[in-house]
Amino acid sequence: MNKSIRTTCAYCGVGCGITAEVSGVNASGNGDRGVAIAGDREHPANKGRLCSKGTHLGETVGLEGRLLAPMIGEREADWGEALDLVAGRMRECIAEHGPDSVAFYVSGQLLTEDYYAANKLMKGFVGSGNIDTNSRLCMASAVAAHNRAFGEDVVPCSYEDLDATDLVLLVGSNTAWCHPVVWQRIEKTRERRGTKIIVIDPRRTETAEQADLHIPIAPDGDTALFNALLAEMKRRGKLDRDFLRDHVDADEGFWDKLDCDPGITAGLFAKLCNIVAEHPRMVTLFSQGANQSVGGTDKGNAIINFHLATGRINRIGAGPFSITGQPNAMGGREVGGLANMLACHLGFSEDERADVAAFWDAPNLCAGPGLKAVDMFRAIHEGKIKFLWVMATNPAVSLPDSRFVREALSRCPTVVVSDIIADTDTGRFAHVRLPAHGWGEKDGTVTNSERCVSRQRALFPAPGQTRADWKIIADVAARMGWEDSFAWTNAAEVFREYARMTQLAKARGKALDLTAQADLDDAEYEAMTPFQWGGERPLTSRFPTPSGKARLVSVTPPAPATSAEFPLRLNTARYRDQWHTMTRTGLSPTLSQHRPEPLLEVHPADARELALVEGGLGRVETASGAAVYRVQLSEGQRRGEICVPMHWTDAMAGEGRSNRLPSQAVDPVSGQPGFKNGAARVVPL
Ligand code: SF4
Repeated sequence: MNKSIRTTCAYCGVGCGITAEVSGVNASGNGDRGVAIAGDREHPANKGRLCSKGTHLGETVGLEGRLLAPMIGEREADWGEALDLVAGRMRECIAEHGPDSVAFYVSGQLLTEDYYAANKLMKGFVGSGNIDTNSRLCMASAVAAHNRAFGEDVVPCSYEDLDATDLVLLVGSNTAWCHPVVWQRIEKTRERRGTKIIVIDPRRTETAEQADLHIPIAPDGDTALFNALLAEMKRRGKLDRDFLRDHVDADEGFWDKLDCDPGITAGLFAKLCNIVAEHPRMVTLFSQGANQSVGGTDKGNAIINFHLATGRINRIGAGPFSITGQPNAMGGREVGGLANMLACHLGFSEDERADVAAFWDAPNLCAGPGLKAVDMFRAIHEGKIKFLWVMATNPAVSLPDSRFVREALSRCPTVVVSDIIADTDTGRFAHVRLPAHGWGEKDGTVTNSERCVSRQRALFPAPGQTRADWKIIADVAARMGWEDSFAWTNAAEVFREYARMTQLAKARGKALDLTAQADLDDAEYEAMTPFQWGGERPLTSRFPTPSGKARLVSVTPPAPATSAEFPLRLNTARYRDQWHTMTRTGLSPTLSQHRPEPLLEVHPADARELALVEGGLGRVETASGAAVYRVQLSEGQRRGEICVPMHWTDAMAGEGRSNRLPSQAVDPVSGQPGFKNGAARVVPL
């Protein structure tokens, strides 16, 4: 008999609700895993809509290629032996080299309960801050910008604001492809109230094609453009003087540093300024094009500065809106998945550390922040980190300069990988592989881009010997002698502990507050409906800074990256129907039809100069590596710039792995790698 189960999508940070009609699963979970997917009409994130990736989730739940038993090397092991080995190696490593010789690299694919358990084990019990997440690659710059401006990592608006706005500025976001349900929502608003859409993006993307105005800035031109825009609004008398007086402090000399060349023609800049001046109800949605830059944090603050100074925040239909890539990047940020946060939006001050240590009854609370992702892999390469546990992510493909990352993994004395897939690029370096639950088996919560917490529910019995990630972590913790602090018996218990812990944030006036959910019993947790922490506009009463005011942060555009040797600017992008390193979407025949191979997009005039032809092959070379692509001529590329997709791995595409190309350069504040605006050259093959 069919079962109907409400859950959330496995993919992006829109966080769409799904109604899954499950059929044909036998008791072991190894039979036909039939499931019909539909959008959940009652979920506030999508109100029944889904994109192609969500719609075809049912094609990706088969067990082919799954890791179904613990593996030590290439030998199948039982859980007891594998866990003993992991705990023993970690214990030895701490004893011989100290806690900072251990690192966890986790993922926005983990549920909040998994993330909470990993962070507690590392920061409270192992005693190191060395836990970072692949969300570092996604929105760490937005987090840093929020912290600098608001005093807390808070998105100050909601999807509802997209329904009520008159102007949407999309910055570094191919929303129609990467967050399609948000795009559908914006289109509906345009139909209903004539909302204008402006896309600020070096590339003429599918989103830009449909906008009212496309501003094709140079890569990393966002900061100068927003500075110039704010200076122009000041000249036109469009600042909100009352809001500035009552709610905003400014860096010294802030107003004197605004005047910049906007980087676009005078006519286009005037057009942009006129539209912006006429539409005070304005949302700026920014994404990876802004964040994945060596100047990403400044870009975020340039956008936030504009909204604060013009009072376009904390009002219906207005605000700076960072939209995340991963399904639970936000949940990870809440519980402390980033190396530079402790937990529950708390930092490392003596008071905050004391509160967290008391709450966890932690014997070894870490002294301070740990290493961010790129630095973590450098420390592995240098031999300083000797034990690495990778959970639900594929850094051998997804981190920049992946040749270096693979070298680091090959040098690490102990690599443990928890994953659902048996053969991943990272798993090939693992000494121990631990089989985890996948989407459709996981049970817990995720938080989407608008701070909405939703349940992800199991659709199928767990196959083989797979376990929940939080359970695997707790099992290792128990073997380290900390069983009392990790004695959860289900996900609801982990969630309640986390929700209780947010009282530490609440007591400091922060917006993160799940204390109302701290006493849910198991049945209430099971039946939990989506809720938004902080409400629709969480910063309305005060900003969580010592003064209660937000801050205008002086920002400067980054220097150009190109050189005589590598004269082209290289951008990376997502495709509509693929997700990250394709370990899931690559399983769907339907999704694979959209773009079956990775393409090098190049302007036709550049192609002529470079002797590249449509459909031919070109090798992209950077200081870090090289990769080969089929050439696609595109008028949507600016001259002197090229673009390749992020998805394909060595195993799939041989020479097509794009993350060989970006360098290890990161934003100095957030540590987020600069996947955009690299320096490259192209050789025809
Ligand atoms: Fe899933 Fe994102 Fe598509 Fe929604 S928009 S169905 S969350 S991939």
